Amino acid sequence: MGTLKRVYTFGDKKAEGKADMKNLLGGKGANLAEMNLIGVPVPPGLTITTEVCNEYNLTGKEKMIELLLDEVRAGIKGIEEIMGSRFGDSQNPLLVSVRSGGRASMPGMMDTILNLGLNDESVKGIALKVGNERFAWDSYRRFVQMYGDVVLGMKPVSKQDIDPFEEIIEHMKEEKKVELDTDLTTDDLKELVKRFKTAVKNATGRDFPADPWEQLWGSVVAVFESWNNERANFYRRLNNIPDEWGTAVNVQAMVYGNMGETSGTGVCFTRDSATGENILTGEYLMNAQGEDVVAGTRTPNQISIEQSKRWSKLAQVSEEERRGRYPSLEEVMPAAYKELDDILKKLEIHYKDMQDIEFTIQEGKLWMLQTRNGKRTGSAMLKIAMDLHREGRLTDIEVLKRMEAGKLDELLHPVFDIKALEQANVVAKGLPASPGAATGQVVFFAEDAEAWASDNKKTILVRIETSPEDLKGMHAAEGILTARGGMTSHAAVVARGMGKCCVSAAGGIIINYKERTMTANGKVFKEGDWLSLNGSSGEVLEGKVATVNPELSGDFALLMDIAEKYTHMSVRTNADTPHDARVAREFGAKGIGLTRTEHMFFEGKRIVAMREMIIASDEAGRRKALDKLLPMQREDFEGIFEAMNGLPVTVRLLDPPLHEFIPHDEANQKELSEATGIPVEVIKQKAEDLHETNPMLGHRGCRLGNTYPEISETQTRAIIEAALNCKKRGIIVLPEIMIPLAGTLKELKMQEEIVRGTVAKVFAERNDTIEYMFGTMIEIPRAALTADKIAESAEFFSFGTNDLTQMAFGYSRDDIGKFLGIYLDKSILKQDPFQVIDREGVGQLIRMGVERGRQTKPNLKVGICGEHGGDPSSVEFCHMVGMDYVSCSPFRVPIARVAAAQAAINFPSDKK
Ligand code: PEP
Ligand code: MG
Repeated sequence: MGTLKRVYTFGDKKAEGKADMKNLLGGKGANLAEMNLIGVPVPPGLTITTEVCNEYNLTGKEKMIELLLDEVRAGIKGIEEIMGSRFGDSQNPLLVSVRSGGRASMPGMMDTILNLGLNDESVKGIALKVGNERFAWDSYRRFVQMYGDVVLGMKPVSKQDIDPFEEIIEHMKEEKKVELDTDLTTDDLKELVKRFKTAVKNATGRDFPADPWEQLWGSVVAVFESWNNERANFYRRLNNIPDEWGTAVNVQAMVYGNMGETSGTGVCFTRDSATGENILTGEYLMNAQGEDVVAGTRTPNQISIEQSKRWSKLAQVSEEERRGRYPSLEEVMPAAYKELDDILKKLEIHYKDMQDIEFTIQEGKLWMLQTRNGKRTGSAMLKIAMDLHREGRLTDIEVLKRMEAGKLDELLHPVFDIKALEQANVVAKGLPASPGAATGQVVFFAEDAEAWASDNKKTILVRIETSPEDLKGMHAAEGILTARGGMTSHAAVVARGMGKCCVSAAGGIIINYKERTMTANGKVFKEGDWLSLNGSSGEVLEGKVATVNPELSGDFALLMDIAEKYTHMSVRTNADTPHDARVAREFGAKGIGLTRTEHMFFEGKRIVAMREMIIASDEAGRRKALDKLLPMQREDFEGIFEAMNGLPVTVRLLDPPLHEFIPHDEANQKELSEATGIPVEVIKQKAEDLHETNPMLGHRGCRLGNTYPEISETQTRAIIEAALNCKKRGIIVLPEIMIPLAGTLKELKMQEEIVRGTVAKVFAERNDTIEYMFGTMIEIPRAALTADKIAESAEFFSFGTNDLTQMAFGYSRDDIGKFLGIYLDKSILKQDPFQVIDREGVGQLIRMGVERGRQTKPNLKVGICGEHGGDPSSVEFCHMVGMDYVSCSPFRVPIARVAAAQAAINFPSDKK
């Protein structure tokens, strides 16, 4: 531990770190170092490594300070030398900011302290040094407030409670009869600091720390502590960020955007993070300090003229008013703008990706405070990568690596129907902060959005502005509407990251939290009223607006072509209807990996025939009912085979326990009795007979086919007759008959005999044949363990990871919701094992199943058809164990295709 380097310094175009040290320095620290190395102006500073965060969790504060002291002192000395000031000095004090910065950016997750180093003495020094007493005291009161909130824990936990410091400011404004903070005089600010300090003493029992070193260590600890706060944990879970990564801490010399009219601060993206367009987008405020822009408390202005004009059009502001009241930075400070634009171009070329940067202009001098790859929507992710590809700056492989496969999902979601949109009533207009179409019931508090979502209600979260506390509610809501803020406000950035529809800065709406109402265009919306948001135009629409599926072409199709070139596994779909099959085929599915035949039995007359079959007391009765089902099944299969002309289709024989088909309530039992002529008592008795304590482990799957062979026989006949009918019509059919829930070779063999015997019969009757395959699901642990035996009968395996996970963990797939949340909160589970394959446990069964199966049949075809087949991490695992294909629901096909290509690139094998 003693020789470990814990602190890395940067400044004056020199740096100990660099961009590829993100794991150690966090994204912010690594990029600050890198900017120094490429000659971009950055205030000097130091980075305490992510390893120290983990160390702190073990050792606690005192020991951590002891381990860090010498290196931090040396680092601060370096900053002092560059800045020509001294930390803790009363005449010429060095002030610093303290910020967190993990490996992956977590917007708004970690708290920031600015102006650290101020106390009753140094505030006078700063006032003299900059010749501006008001500025010095304003900085001081901001510091006490931030420190009190963040380090001393005075910030209220609930959004509905008021920050104690804000309350003091409001009182002061009332006393002084002024409206804005900026109207407070220097003396007022001095009085504020005094009152703030009294509030601190009352809340904590201690004086506000005057010693800058105490302030510094307090802040470092607060950053490390915030790694473990609820918001951070939630965000990590949402984005699969491991707890062990830890956060780094960056301590950096302050530069000021609030030193008058030649100072300012802003954030910007080198391209549009909502649409991906190649235009600089961003916002700034003159005479303001960093947090003001993102906090959404003042509506900022646009950076470039082009962007400013677009904004004014959306906001319906005249050109004259725009130039006068909302001028762009390009107009206000052309030289600084030019320098900024040059630096942005340099950074984008250097990082080969769209950058999200923070900057400050102090008395005309530009400083960069941060650069990182910008968060973006799914469509921006695609457009930016494909544009860079066209510009020759990204290769195919780099494009694929850039894709967060799961994010493509956003592109596949419905958009508003144009006709419905035309008729909809627009009640307000804001900025198109994050695209998409959202419809839901209005709620005003994040907690409500969460609670309503757990009752399966769709909501639109309406806030004056959002903050990190609202994260869970934002996630739970369909869309987010804010009255204030801009394209880079918290709501906008977070919504884009989540792929959630957001309209921000809808200035025309008035929100009353107390009454829980929102007034727009003279109309009052109460909590629970329906509202729609168009995140692509910024329109807020009354009521529910109809949606349609999006068109997928252009860049999307090009990306799919690139994925196709590199992938080894093919992607099939789980589809039970010709419609689903066609949708999946359009998305590039290479066949069907699972048709669940039971779903077909629920429709119309079929359910009656199905119930007749179940209630029948003998084989003859069952056969009579099955004969009615046969033509219907055959017709279903013909439709599916036709939709999948030329591609393989796996049809699974009946799986669920029979009681699922029988009505359990009296009214439906009576109805069934009337339709079939079977007495109600008989139906009731059957329902009772079929009752099982553990139906998922009961009389289902191939156990049904082995106890009632006529079921398997009829289904096989329907499949093969349908295939032969299609063949006659010139359709190429490649049927694969799949047995569910086999656990022993014997039970599979018994099914094989029935299937092959029936197929032979149909061939003989029709005097025609067709190629087909016989295979099984591997979804019982015993089948995976004895896969070498099972493969004696099966020609293919398809892993049913839903049941396999259920039986490997012993978690009921239908009831895991009761404890999953708690298990995730307590980190007993890292992810829901029904969504992401548990590689450690279930993964072993899968690997073993594949290997043992291929010991018996080296060319055994292997795939997966459980829900995991559409999850990028699970798709990667399937590739790693050598599967031939994955199968997933139609809308996840494109995601799986990209994930399969990424897996092939990251884990090369000799297959193609
Ligand atoms: C499975 O168990 O993974 C599977 C695909 O089958 P089902 O979900 O129908 O049980
Ligand atoms: Mg199953």
